Amino acid sequence: MNILFIMSDDHAAHAMSCYGSRINRTPHLDRIAEGGMRFDNCFCTNSICTPSRATILTGTYNHVNGCTTLSSALDNRLLTFPKLLQAAGWQTAVVGKWHLGHGPANDPAGFDFWRVLPGQGNYHDPEMIDAQGRRRWPGYATDLITDMSLDWLRARDPSRPFCLLCHHKAPHRRWEPDARHAALYEDTDIPEPPTFDDDYATRSEAAREAQMRIDRDLTPQDLKLPLPPGLSPAAEKRWKYQRYIKDYLRCVASIDDNVGRLLDYLDAEGLAQDTLVIYTSDQGFFLGDHGWFDKRFMYEESLRMPFILRYPREVRPGSVCRDMVLNVDFAPLFLDLAGLPKPAAFQGESFRPLLRGERPAGWQQSMYYRYWMHRDTSHNVYAHYGVRTLRHKLIYYYNDACGQPGATDRPRPPEWELFDLEKDPCELRNVYDDPAYAGVVRELKAELDRLQRQVGDTPFTPR
Ligand code: CA
Repeated sequence: MNILFIMSDDHAAHAMSCYGSRINRTPHLDRIAEGGMRFDNCFCTNSICTPSRATILTGTYNHVNGCTTLSSALDNRLLTFPKLLQAAGWQTAVVGKWHLGHGPANDPAGFDFWRVLPGQGNYHDPEMIDAQGRRRWPGYATDLITDMSLDWLRARDPSRPFCLLCHHKAPHRRWEPDARHAALYEDTDIPEPPTFDDDYATRSEAAREAQMRIDRDLTPQDLKLPLPPGLSPAAEKRWKYQRYIKDYLRCVASIDDNVGRLLDYLDAEGLAQDTLVIYTSDQGFFLGDHGWFDKRFMYEESLRMPFILRYPREVRPGSVCRDMVLNVDFAPLFLDLAGLPKPAAFQGESFRPLLRGERPAGWQQSMYYRYWMHRDTSHNVYAHYGVRTLRHKLIYYYNDACGQPGATDRPRPPEWELFDLEKDPCELRNVYDDPAYAGVVRELKAELDRLQRQVGDTPFTPR
């Protein structure tokens, strides 16, 4: 049993045609979903790069693995699923974006081969770090990461199983496409999302103060072209959205092509039957939704991870799972499928039965989320935690840095939000103060308390 884990950076599910995208097509990603299973309720436990990556590798929440913010690094002595696979005889590799720190204490561990981008890395002619040191590679990051992944696969020992983590930098900000896709969408307008002109009425100060607005917070470097003169504010916002979303989707198109190359290799080598192929992203992203780019919030577009897998041995082609799975559950799933026991340190649960369409008794109906990086200087999103059930979402903006690295010590009074996802799937109406929801608020606060105890996190206590 082999694992090919492909993860991009900031690729939202609503920019994949297998998830019903209104704005682009992703035929090669769709091959994975068509040949396997699409997960419609896969969520991250902290919607930001470093923390989600740490959770995926270690099977633990961020208060346990120490990677609470972008200013954290992963202690490479921690137990990870690649280490366990390697110890059990798998050939292991990671290529591409790491973003978990560098140096003896943070470089990738548990990999026979690793070659990673420093920090965020560059799209064009990127430097990469491996066991031999640091050098520049001519080419486009998405192509190079795929080339290096294929080179490693070709050179592996075919008599032993493999686990390859192929981590794309794209489509992370600043959304720099390659020449091949630079003219894609040139003559078309990409539709705006229904919440494009959200005015944040009824919502928290956190939503109003976030610095991720299409109309205000995209930089000249993000936009890359000079603003045409004479536009009204509304027309300027629409122009900026087109600039942003087209470059984003061009970067996605390159990922899609390159995923196709990896799938073709598996087919040509007769490996497809025995290889678990995953495509996911470290979190979701706002694609103009609520007037925003970026992530961080517990709102749906940012919380939801695309997660599709193909594993012909156990998964019926074209199936869909609506049960809740979390990034903390990935590592336990991989170990389960590899026939290895889950270590006590891992907090997630294997969802292998869901792959066969069976829901285990007592399977999670709610999830715990925490964003720690209070009011970081670039995006100003306030710290919050909350609970999402299949129907509702309760968010507590505790609005305090709590001494976390990269968070700033600018506290604000706490606030609550409650959304009824059935009646208000776009999360435009905060009903926390609506008396009709008093019972729901009570239940969800109790559930939040239960989840915090279960995962071992502590509630915020005002100073
Ligand atoms: Ca990310």
